[in-house]
Parts: sequence; C-alpha cells; structure tokens
Amino acid sequence: MKKRKKRVSSHPVSSIQNHFPKFTITTLGCKVNQSESDAMAHQLKNSGWHPVHPKEKADLCIINTCTVTQKASMQSRQAVRKAIRSNPGACIIVTGCYAQTEPDEIDKINGIHHIIGHGDKSKIPDIILSEEEAPYPRLIRQNILSEHNFEQTPAPVSGNRTRPFLKIQDGCDSFCTYCIVPYARGRSRSMPIENVLENIKQLKQAGYHEVVLTGVHLGAYGLDFSPKTGLTELLHRIGDTHPMGRVRLSSIEPHELTDDIIQLVAKADIFCHHFHLPLQSGDDLILKKMHRPYTRSLFKNQIIKINELLPDAAIGVDTLIGFPGETEKAFENTYSLIAELPVTYLHVFPFSARKGTPASKYPQPVDSKTIKARCKKMRSLGQVKRKDFYKKFTGKPVEILIEDKRDKFTGLLKGITSNYMPVHVNGDDNLKNTLVQVRIEKVKSDKKVLGAFY
Ligand code: SF4
Repeated sequence: MKKRKKRVSSHPVSSIQNHFPKFTITTLGCKVNQSESDAMAHQLKNSGWHPVHPKEKADLCIINTCTVTQKASMQSRQAVRKAIRSNPGACIIVTGCYAQTEPDEIDKINGIHHIIGHGDKSKIPDIILSEEEAPYPRLIRQNILSEHNFEQTPAPVSGNRTRPFLKIQDGCDSFCTYCIVPYARGRSRSMPIENVLENIKQLKQAGYHEVVLTGVHLGAYGLDFSPKTGLTELLHRIGDTHPMGRVRLSSIEPHELTDDIIQLVAKADIFCHHFHLPLQSGDDLILKKMHRPYTRSLFKNQIIKINELLPDAAIGVDTLIGFPGETEKAFENTYSLIAELPVTYLHVFPFSARKGTPASKYPQPVDSKTIKARCKKMRSLGQVKRKDFYKKFTGKPVEILIEDKRDKFTGLLKGITSNYMPVHVNGDDNLKNTLVQVRIEKVKSDKKVLGAFY
C-alpha cells in the first residue's frame, strides 16, 4: 500500500471485550467465497462471537469481497462503505479476492481496521484479539502465488445453509486470458481425499442431507498431490462410502468432465443429476484467444453424452459475452450452440477487462451497448430453456430437500430436486431440512414450479 491514510483512534478490541460480541459477514461472489465465509463464521462462533442479521448493529463486520468483474469490485467497495456507515465503532475487516488483488483501492476507504488476504483469513479470530497497536488499516497479505498448501477450514457444520458448500479445492493454474482468479487465489491445491470424506461425514452427523462440493477449478482436484489423484478417484470413494444422502458437484470444465464421472453420476444414487459447465464461448477462435483448451465440438459432445445417460439432468452453462474480437458471427456461434443443445439454464456474464490480465490489452474491444444487447438475448434464451426443462416434469413425482427459508413472496416452503429444480409446496415448518416426495403440479408463467404432497 502506498501510505497509511488514517489512524482509527481507539483499538477496536476495547469496544468488544466486555460484552456479548456480535458479528456479521457480508459475502460477495462465488460458492467458494460463501463456503469460506461459513468457515469463518464457524470459527468466530467457537471463539465466543454471536452472529447477527446484517441489519442489526455488530461489533465486528467482515466483508468477504469478490473481484471477478469490475462490477463485483464496485459492489465490494459499496458493501465496505455500508458496513462502516451502519456500524459506527465496529471493527471492520475486509478480506477475499479484492482484498488480495487490490488492497490499495480498499485502503482509499476510511474506517477499515484490517485488510486481510486469502492466506490469513483463517487467523481472523486471533488477529482481532491481538493487542498490537498499529496504524489502521493493517494490511496482512501473503504472496498467494507461492502458496502450495490447501488451507484446511472446518466443515461448515453450523452455517445457516440447508445445502452447505464444502470447498475441496482452491486456486487455478490455467490462467485463461480474461481471468483474474489465479492472481487472487494462487495455484491449484486440494483437500486430501480422507479429509473430504471426514468433512462430509461431519456434515451428515450435524443433520445435513446434501453437500455441494466446490472449488475454484474442481476438475484440477488432486493433480497437486504426489502421487497425483483426481476428481474421478475422489468421486469413486464418495460413491463407495456413501457418506451423505446427496452430493452435488459445482462447475467442472468441459474437457475435464470425464466419461467415468458422467457414468458414475448416472449409476451411484448419491450424486445429484446436475452438471454445470463453463463454456464461455461457442466460437473456436474466441476460445483460443481466451486460452480455453477445448473446442465447440468437444463441448457439444459432452452435453450430448450427459443427456443420453441422464435425460433428466440439469445442465447449467456459463457464457462470457463480449470478449475482445467477438464479432456478431462469433456471438451467433455461441447462441446457436446453446440453442441446439439440451442445456437447461444459463449464467450469462458480460466481459469485463481485469487489470493485469492479457485480455485487458487485447484489440477489438466490443462496445458496452453491444455487450448489453447480446447478454439480453442470451439471457432470454436461458429463460426459455429453464422453463421448458421444468415443464418436462409436470405431473411427475420428485424428491425435494426442503430449505430452511420459506419463499419470501408466497410464504410457501421451497425445496430443491436432485436436478436443481426449485419446487414450492404448502407445508409445515417441521418439514424444513427434510427430504420429501412431491408431485409437480404446474409451472407458472414466472417459471415458479408448484408441487403438492401425494
Ligand atoms: S479455469 Fe480459467 S476461468 Fe476458471 S478460474 Fe482458472 S483461469 Fe479462471
């Protein structure tokens, strides 16, 4: 950081030592960030802290930031300012990907006590209790690119999620030309297989029925071990030991989704019938410029394979719209590929140049108006695909895991099927966090799926 801007007059610990200390964590970004926030919350609870709703005043506010796009960085800064405004006198900690990559930008905001990079997040309970009198904000950040150890965080057994996220892999070695993530999270590193199984077991013992295995680059799981192992090996062990009712996989790169994994998901009833593949572009030239090591045709074959073996599976796809050099024809290649395949939902991201990445300097940028229009077109396609998929199940029986929170508009219970369909049912609170059988009654025009008990 260039210079210390301002010394916060009182040490924040003095205001939190003598009473019932309360904390909030605001999380931006992906499932990995959310999983890490859950782990931080678990640690803080074990250290005597009490979680409160973000609208309540807290003594400690942690903002776990994201920087995947310019918008995410901006939203992270907004969240920091909001926490400072709403919690006068609180200890303010900023961590996560934005804190790791651009601490100088965060330092411009007055009122922060600690800016903590990825390598030290798990030390937060100790850091806030350290009596060290330092000018604030204190920057605690390692060179993440030299980190080789997987940071073991506790299983998120006390989180408030019905379907907890378990981070089993962190970092990425791929350096796609548009992506800031390897600079924010460092090299790929994984949780040992035995620890994954133990963590899932602990979650089961704590009463959970589903766990979502997450990672920054899940397909690289285990490749950092010596001898190497892989995601396929881990999933076979999970299939054999059956440590939990349901196991869901988060995003897997198209070229890393092996036939073995698809067959295993089809055969072993523990795995949710749900795949998520980051395509980004359906144009081979753009894929090459992105440094994505697969082609349109490989992606197409993967989706067809999944659909043949698991016709009921949800297949989610990420697209990145407006990469430099994306012509109308290149965009249409992405659009037509998605349109023709049995994809069931889309996540559409506008390209956003990230400082320090090769693509931020590429020629032929696409103007923002065009990016917006293409995103809109792609999102509309996603809505149609989603609705068509849901409609296929009308009249059919499904099993849903009822979530802890009711739908805020209808007050109905909401459950998720193995194939990622949210189903709304009328029922009592005692059904929360249970697996129940319902029948799909109808799909409303707003895509809300209504179910009924038999
Ligand atoms: S695979 Fe590419 S897009 Fe995904 S995290 Fe790694 S560098 Fe980023």
